[in-house]
Amino acid sequence: MPSAPVYIATPFYYAAPMAQLIDGKATAAAVRVAVKTEIAEFQRTHGYAPGLATVLVGDDAASATYVRGKRKACAEVGVASFPHELPAQTTQADLLALVCKLNAQSEVHGILVQLPLPKHIDSDSIIETVDPAKDVDGLHPLSQARLVQGREGMRPCTPLGVMRLLDDTGVDLKGARAVVAGRSNLVGKPIAFMLLERHATVTMCHSRTRDLAAEVANADVLIAAIGRAQMIRGAWIKPGSVVIDVGINRQSDGKLVGDVEFAAACERAAFITPVPGGVGPMTIAMLMQNTLTAARRQLTVRS
Ligand code: NAD
Repeated sequence: MPSAPVYIATPFYYAAPMAQLIDGKATAAAVRVAVKTEIAEFQRTHGYAPGLATVLVGDDAASATYVRGKRKACAEVGVASFPHELPAQTTQADLLALVCKLNAQSEVHGILVQLPLPKHIDSDSIIETVDPAKDVDGLHPLSQARLVQGREGMRPCTPLGVMRLLDDTGVDLKGARAVVAGRSNLVGKPIAFMLLERHATVTMCHSRTRDLAAEVANADVLIAAIGRAQMIRGAWIKPGSVVIDVGINRQSDGKLVGDVEFAAACERAAFITPVPGGVGPMTIAMLMQNTLTAARRQLTVRS
């Protein structure tokens, strides 16, 4: 478990313990530097760079921003970028055809189809068409089945980032009580299985959980992935725990906040991620790492 919270002595009183902030921005930057070095080595050895195809359908502003960030990261770390932008009225058949084409291109090692897709497209069938070897988003049913079975496979990027941040705190996950609030296929479920892989005792909470406060109060490690601004109250947090806040919620004043009541939680947790600057920057960094991993695995299969 992490070291005890630090009490700051002043001449007149002992202030409440303050959690140590987990700096996702710095960790993400370190991951990108490491990946860049490994990609340069990969390129020297094999004569080509790992390649990532990004597919953006329609004109959703948030999706366009995310995809831009991913392409920028490719350029920064040395991943060859294969951008595809399709209009909102693209048919299911046309998108499937593009995914099949990317599956067949040997210079593309990873395929990322930015979600959400327009409503007339069946996202599940698109995700299932991506070659599991190129599934750098870790969303293919085969990747998720491998995770559930504890076998090697592509893991989703945000959960990978969460695990990296947890590891950096030095927390011993073995036997720790971990509570995951949120059960989406993208975030909550994979994180729960990754924690289980690391021998934590995992409780999954969701919208029908009867007493979320009581579950959170037991958590040595809390992962909040709900998408509701500050719904996890600081007073629920177990003193000395590690709190990872995946939530990103925009308030009416334009400010971004997480799912955890941050200031109050800081007075109880030993470690906590801020929002923004916590989990957020990790996702793209782990996508770069996954692209390199995919390229290496395809090398093994080819040779
Ligand atoms: P989602 O809407 O798919 O899932 C939300 C989950 O929260 C559901 O499983 C639901 O059961 C649960 N939930 C809803 N109300 C609840 C309640 N009262 N108590 C307990 N659980 C409740 O969302 P998602 O895609 O998993 O994303 C969750 C949050 O994480 C969002 O804020 C999203 O923006 C953020 N997110 C951040 C990153 C990142 O890179 N940092 C990546 C993905 C998602």
